[in-house]
Amino acid sequence: MSLTGKVVIVTGGGSGIGRGIAELLAGGGAKVAVAEIREEHGVKVADGIRRNGGVAEFIQTDVANEDSVKAAVARVAKMLGPPFGLVNNAGIGGWEIPAAEMTAGEWDRVLSVNLRGAFLCARAAIPHMRAQGGGAIVNIASVHANFGFAGASHYDASKGGMVAFTRTLALENGPDGIRVNAICPGYIDTPLWEEWLAMQANPEGIERATSGWHPLRRRGLPVDIAKAARFLLSADAEWITGTTLVVDGGLSVRYFGL
Ligand code: NDP
Repeated sequence: MSLTGKVVIVTGGGSGIGRGIAELLAGGGAKVAVAEIREEHGVKVADGIRRNGGVAEFIQTDVANEDSVKAAVARVAKMLGPPFGLVNNAGIGGWEIPAAEMTAGEWDRVLSVNLRGAFLCARAAIPHMRAQGGGAIVNIASVHANFGFAGASHYDASKGGMVAFTRTLALENGPDGIRVNAICPGYIDTPLWEEWLAMQANPEGIERATSGWHPLRRRGLPVDIAKAARFLLSADAEWITGTTLVVDGGLSVRYFGL
């Protein structure tokens, strides 16, 4: 499963799932670009990786901004080498706003980071992958791609769109040796999850209950998603493209309430 020496960009790598992916890949010898909007978080993760003997650079990136993405990918190529891998992980939540009451700005904000961001990053990274004869992209979607969640229509649409985008990107780039797959995580303990939890009427009760919803009796950790991303990026997945891997502790196999 070696990614030793491969350059991998992890967007939103300064927190939560992205951080877990960046650290696991770097621990396995990949050169990791922590492409993150928030400097203090990105610097902290890259510094931590280097302290542990890994190779990482913080690359200031706003995935929703075309110029920022172009500049970031060029900077990765210069500082670490041309990217072989891209993990489109950066994402923001959007909860508790029914579509009928949502402003266009609220809709656009979530779609621009979660979906447009993945498009912009893939478009900027693919020429580098083609030039080296192949590469791998992993898009972090969500179980929200498959289920509705009242108050999160923009988030759900962004994640459903990510799965559709994954299929077409795989189709277009397979002949160039570039594989594209998606992961649908379930509940993962991260700052984003804590943000949602804090909005609930009974956060402690919900926190306890969510563990029980999983056949494996716990919520996920960033490393659970990182292991799946590492697999999909690696040569062990060399004949896997255009697919979506649900990594959710069994959450979505349950017929709700039974
Ligand atoms: P976090 O909020 O912990 O991490 C997301 C990171 O992305 C943050 O560092 C955030 O910075 C950064 N980010 C936000 N906007 C941008 C941007 N425009 N450009 C670059 N970076 C940006 O979230 P998670 O780790 O929980 O989520 C990671 C991904 O996993 C998301 O796509 C999310 O939708 C998905 N996911 C998460 C689940 C969960 O239960 N946690 C479940 C299913 C999917 P800042 O802190 O400044 O906002």
